[in-house]
Amino acid sequence: MEAKRKIAILGSTGSIGRQTLDILAEYPHLFSPYLLTANTQAELLAEQAIKYGAKHVIIADESRYDLLKSMLAGRDIVIEAGAKAICDAMHIPAIDIVVTAMVGYSGLEPTINAIKANKTIALANKETLVVAGELIYKLLEQSASKIYPVDSEHGAIFQCLVGEDHDAISKLILTASGGPFRTKSLEELQYVTKADALQHPNWDMGAKITIDSATMMNKGFEVIEARWLFDVTPDQIEVVVHPQSIIHSMVEFKDSSVKAQLGLPDMHLPIRYALGFPKRLESNCDRMRVTDYSNLTFETPDYNKFPLLGLAFDSMRRAGNIPCILNAANEIAVAAFLNEKIRFVDIARIVENTINNISYIVHPSYSDYVNTNKIAREYAASLIK
Ligand code: MG
Repeated sequence: MEAKRKIAILGSTGSIGRQTLDILAEYPHLFSPYLLTANTQAELLAEQAIKYGAKHVIIADESRYDLLKSMLAGRDIVIEAGAKAICDAMHIPAIDIVVTAMVGYSGLEPTINAIKANKTIALANKETLVVAGELIYKLLEQSASKIYPVDSEHGAIFQCLVGEDHDAISKLILTASGGPFRTKSLEELQYVTKADALQHPNWDMGAKITIDSATMMNKGFEVIEARWLFDVTPDQIEVVVHPQSIIHSMVEFKDSSVKAQLGLPDMHLPIRYALGFPKRLESNCDRMRVTDYSNLTFETPDYNKFPLLGLAFDSMRRAGNIPCILNAANEIAVAAFLNEKIRFVDIARIVENTINNISYIVHPSYSDYVNTNKIAREYAASLIK
């Protein structure tokens, strides 16, 4: 019998983290949770560690360390706190697979460490590739590490590409649900509320990514993510709106054939595939009945209504530190929108303004990314009053 693979989940208390724990519990003979980390949710982290039998927990927010420690008193679990502890833990030899499910820029440094430690990575933190795709790509070339996508679109493309030569790819077609505001007019978008934006029609996700879906920034990030994951040029990526979220993405090949991957909109599916790869894991989950979906539709995205999608394409083409600025400004603007400090349409305005006012660096080093992230956040925050 094969040894169980030991899993680290970075961000185990978030939506993807919790669904990853479901998958580990579905296949206890294949996987065991080794390390769980969370940003601030110490109580849930402690409950998860006990329930799933983790050996090691880390809370990023150091002010929650004492609480976590008291909740796990008397148990044989290593307890640490702080962002550095998470990065250091990536080098623990026992860990086989790292699931990066934390939100935003905070995913970058642990992912770099996991690559340097030659770990297999199930990547859910798309911001890592948005911010520093070029750097990650170079590090991967010098490492035995592999990245398997957990995002549903990239999981779909990954499945379509099994057994295909890279040079057979003509283009990647990412599908987008269009979010909750697909049918709203530009005028109506001026008045949408936080509650409106948090109502995603198909997917149940964390707050940050749900807002990114409403602005279509999420799809823009996924375009940049796809460019690096699948090593294609910006011109080889297209976005199509597909409101039913049944086709998760497609690949067109040079002979004009198009492959698609279909399934119910359920993140357990791409998580299961990434963790099981190259095998498919048997599951009793709900099946899609194709006859329930006799009306799959497709439309061109509206770049006027969703300017962040176009801005993401521009940022990808300009490259350098621009996508890092895009991400940083978006994180600040989305947080301000969730705190009801700005309107929905202000998110794009703040992001665009920040990109236009931070120095462009064509070939950024790691420290350039760190500095760009810092000053872009400060600049974006200065636009919010
Ligand atoms: Mg996605």
